[in-house]
Amino acid sequence: MPSYSAKSIERLKTCHPLLQDLFNEVIKHRDCSILYGHRGRAEQEEAFNNGRSKAHFGQSQHNFTPSLAVDAMPWPINWEDIKGIHEFAGFVLGVAAEKGIPIRWGGHFKNFFDGPHFELIGYTGVLKE
Ligand SMILES: [Zn+2]
Repeated sequence: MPSYSAKSIERLKTCHPLLQDLFNEVIKHRDCSILYGHRGRAEQEEAFNNGRSKAHFGQSQHNFTPSLAVDAMPWPINWEDIKGIHEFAGFVLGVAAEKGIPIRWGGHFKNFFDGPHFELIGYTGVLKE
């Protein structure tokens, strides 16, 4: 059975309990890596500046505490494998549906393909630097 690296576990712990529940199930079936959970102001602005995010601090679901979004990629990470990213997202969405966890995948965003991104729908939280 695949398992998360220490870094992935640390990142997942910054996420909403529902996202933790979801990805703790996903890892049992698909090897994957957690790239981001919570992003504070400095990390968010860095992500904006290098094009990894279209949002400034306060505009991303990653900025809430706990984080309402998680970025995850199938392992080994291959950004060119768009088909693999779609397949992984389909699996994650299926597990979420089974668990009754309302999530939206960044690959379904209208103006920006955000393949690793999954966020909770209908939740809000506290913004902390
Ligand atoms: Zn994201």
